[in-house]
Amino acid sequence: MDLAVIGSGYVGLVAGACLADAGNHVVCVDVSVEKIDLLNQGGVPIYEPGLEGLIARNRSKSRLSFTTNLKQALDSSEVVFIAVGTPEDEDGSADLSHVLAVAEQIAEQASEAKLVVTKSTVPVGTADKIRAKLAEHSDLEHRVASNPEFLKEGAAIADFQKPDRIIIGCDDATSQAQLERLYAPFNRRERRVVSMSVRSAELTKYAANAMLATRISFMNELANLCDDLGADITDVRYGMGSDRRIGPHFLFPGCGYGGSCFPKDVKALASTARERGQPLEVVEAVERVNAEQRTILVRKAVDALGADLSGKHFALWGLAFKANTDDLREAPSLYTVAELTRRGATVTAHDPVAIPATKALGLPGLSFAEDMYDALEGCDALLICTDWNDYRSPSLARVQTALKGDWVFDGRNLLNPDEVRSAGLRYSGIGRGR
Ligand code: NAD
Repeated sequence: MDLAVIGSGYVGLVAGACLADAGNHVVCVDVSVEKIDLLNQGGVPIYEPGLEGLIARNRSKSRLSFTTNLKQALDSSEVVFIAVGTPEDEDGSADLSHVLAVAEQIAEQASEAKLVVTKSTVPVGTADKIRAKLAEHSDLEHRVASNPEFLKEGAAIADFQKPDRIIIGCDDATSQAQLERLYAPFNRRERRVVSMSVRSAELTKYAANAMLATRISFMNELANLCDDLGADITDVRYGMGSDRRIGPHFLFPGCGYGGSCFPKDVKALASTARERGQPLEVVEAVERVNAEQRTILVRKAVDALGADLSGKHFALWGLAFKANTDDLREAPSLYTVAELTRRGATVTAHDPVAIPATKALGLPGLSFAEDMYDALEGCDALLICTDWNDYRSPSLARVQTALKGDWVFDGRNLLNPDEVRSAGLRYSGIGRGR
């Protein structure tokens, strides 16, 4: 099938490359000349394991190309995916300006009717707005469908190629058949397509993210109670997760969820519900709990070292919002750094891949170390913000020697508290007792 993917970010690039790998001809479009130039030179603007090779293979077979020329992409495609960003607006709702701008451009530049599919996460009713835009600017009979994306950064290619489910939201049989045909190669072993109306598909994406975020905020609150009660959240987690109705996934407490999706999607769902006069109390609480949890490590540091952190120097391991990505959007590390420096401290950070992206933010009071142990030199304490494998089994002897102080604040519960204490350090995790 001939496809265009508008928006070549995390979702557009992965979807474009994986759909090309299944034998389709895909043109990925972006407004960023810099991004498209880099892609055309064989570079990849984001860190995502396996993506570079997948793009290279499909470019070499002429199934995947990149352009800033939307008209050209439209002329060579029958299905057009919209994969542009839907950031948080000032009031917490989803900002649809990029999505609707693309719809308008499609209407103005397409010379034949298309199936326009939203892959971006968009609130219920967006397809209607896209239809209205298309009708306002074109006489062609474009169709609109919803196909929300569920990939996880860091494992995006496997998620796309072997998804738990493919949500296809259509209000007409032609679009339904077209999308089922497109996704047939991803359904060979099991039938993964779940078909529904466009509105249900739009809501399903938010419902899934809100449920996952709820599990995290629930565990974070429970972990903070464990700290107070002297219980260990790790044992509680195993005990809970072994109930098949609950399951072991997504029960890890930490220093808050971040990333490009959960924070904005939770707020956008809450905003939709408020707008409809039916507030989602649980979802509102999930957001409030997370906003608090993002500074839990600083509160622990203040408990241990005193409220005045001026002159203190912290080592921070992990900048990316989670392992295996360089994505910093809403990363708990950034909230941690901001709060530490606001209190007069300085920070030296290490991350396996996200240092260049963090440097570009130009944060005051933050310096970087290319080696994780170098980051510790002369520091009063170590804080761990990201669950990179690199930090799971460090040499605690080296940590103890390099640090000036002796505190380790483990925001991802990566380390064994007894081992840390045996190395002559003091340990504070999330919900593992004081
Ligand atoms: P992103 O910011 O990485 O990429 C968006 C791209 O769209 C950018 O490269 C931008 O330059 C481009 N763009 C903006 N306006 C454009 C236009 N008019 N024409 C062409 N290109 C344009 O965003 P992302 O993380 O890929 O997310 C995209 C959407 O997918 C969002 O709605 C997001 O919520 C959703 N989503 C993201 C993930 C994820 O893990 N990142 C997972 C599932 C769903």
